[in-house]
Amino acid sequence: MRTTDPLLEITGLDVHYGGVHALRGLSLTVREGEIVALLGNNGAGKTTTLSAVSGLVRASAGRIVLGGEDLTRAAAPKVVAAGVVHVPEGRRIFGLLTVHENLQLGGYLVRDARELRRRIDQVYELLPRLAERRGQQGGTLSGGEQQMLAIGRALVARPRLLMLDEPSMGLAPLVVTAVMDVIRDINAAGSAVLLVEQNAKAALKIADRGHVIENGRTVLEGSAAELAADARVVEAYLGGV
Ligand code: ATP
Repeated sequence: MRTTDPLLEITGLDVHYGGVHALRGLSLTVREGEIVALLGNNGAGKTTTLSAVSGLVRASAGRIVLGGEDLTRAAAPKVVAAGVVHVPEGRRIFGLLTVHENLQLGGYLVRDARELRRRIDQVYELLPRLAERRGQQGGTLSGGEQQMLAIGRALVARPRLLMLDEPSMGLAPLVVTAVMDVIRDINAAGSAVLLVEQNAKAALKIADRGHVIENGRTVLEGSAAELAADARVVEAYLGGV
C-alpha cells in the first residue's frame, strides 16, 4: 500500500573515501509502501548510498532519517534493529549452511519460534524451488537460486525497508523476471524497497518512482513511467531507441 508518508529521507548526503568524493549532496526519499529504483552508471554512487544508510560508511555531511529516527551516525546493528535489511551485490549467502539454516538466520531478530516457522513456510510457498532444496548447502545452489535465497532471507526478516543491490546481476532474463516478481511480492506484503539496478528496464517495470544519479548526485527523478519515457534515460540506460 502506497502512502505519502516518508519512510527513508536522505538529504544533502556527502560521503568521502579518502580523497574520493563519492556522494555530493545526494537527496532521496522512499515513502511507506513504495518501490524506488536507484539507477546510474558504474561508479555513480549507488552502492555507497545503500552502505551509508546501513551504517557501513560514514556520511561527512547530510542526514539519513528512517521513520522519523535519525540514523545518520548509527552503526549497522542499530540500523538493522530499526527495520532495514540490505541485500548486497553478489548475494552473500552462507555457502556452507543449508537453505533452511540461511532462512533461519534471516529471522534472527524474530523471538517467537512459531512465528519464525510460519514466515519460513511462507517463503517456501512463494519460492517452491527453495523448499525442494531446503537441506542443500547454499553454496551449491545455482546463481539464480542463491539470489532467491538472499531475497527469501529478507522476506523472513519482513523489513520496513528492503535495500537490494543489483539483484538481477548475472541472471538469465527469465530468472530476472522471477526475481522482480518476488520483490513485488515482498513489497505487497508491506516492505518499502530501494532497488539499485543497472537493468533499468526491469527495475522501472516494478518501481513506483526512480532516481538517476551521476557523480554522487541526483540528475533526474520522477515516476517510473516518466523515467521510462524520458529520452535521456532511454538513451543512457534502456539501450537507445
Ligand atoms: P557500480 O554500479 O559500478 O557498482 P556504484 O554506482 O554502486 O557503481 P559506488 O560503488 O557507490 O558506485 O562508488 C562510487 C565511487 O566511490 C566510485 O568512484 C568508486 O570508485 C568510489 N569508491 C567506492 N568504494 C570505495 C572505497 N572503498 N575506497 C575508495 N573509493 C571507493
